[in-house]
Amino acid sequence: MQQCYCKSGLKFSECCEPVLRVLEIPASALALMRSRYSAYCLGDVNYLQATTHDHSWTDEELKFIQDWADNSQWQHLEIIDFSDNMVEFKAYYIYEKKQHMHHEKSTFIQVNDMWKYVDGEVFEDKVTFLRNEKCICGSGMKYKRCCFRKIDE
Ligand SMILES: [Zn+2]
Ligand SMILES: [Zn+2]
Repeated sequence: MQQCYCKSGLKFSECCEPVLRVLEIPASALALMRSRYSAYCLGDVNYLQATTHDHSWTDEELKFIQDWADNSQWQHLEIIDFSDNMVEFKAYYIYEKKQHMHHEKSTFIQVNDMWKYVDGEVFEDKVTFLRNEKCICGSGMKYKRCCFRKIDE
């Protein structure tokens, strides 16, 4: 079975897949947020655009987001807090051989039953992993034997 990209622990086919394929509408802002993370993992920029409220991206923005999505290794999604229209999360990824963590408190709005991303407050806190800790990606290996090998020190 294929685990969902959003690290919910559920099968992809029972989590983000039906939402990404527009067979189901996300039941909550949290479900939408999870599906958007999965869309980043899959490089599905059209879905990201379609689920962003009231904003059309320029070609340049689309290229930037496509590049970010495609060339990042998405390691983990951690939900910190959420309410009806807010999700605070940390997304861990490697981009250009650097370890990154994106910490954001996102706001969502429901328009005609469909949840959409409005905007977010980004926190600038940094993450450090100890080499002997278990890797954030869930491989079960130590960081030094796993994702740490893909970054430049
Ligand atoms: Zn999912
Ligand atoms: Zn790893």
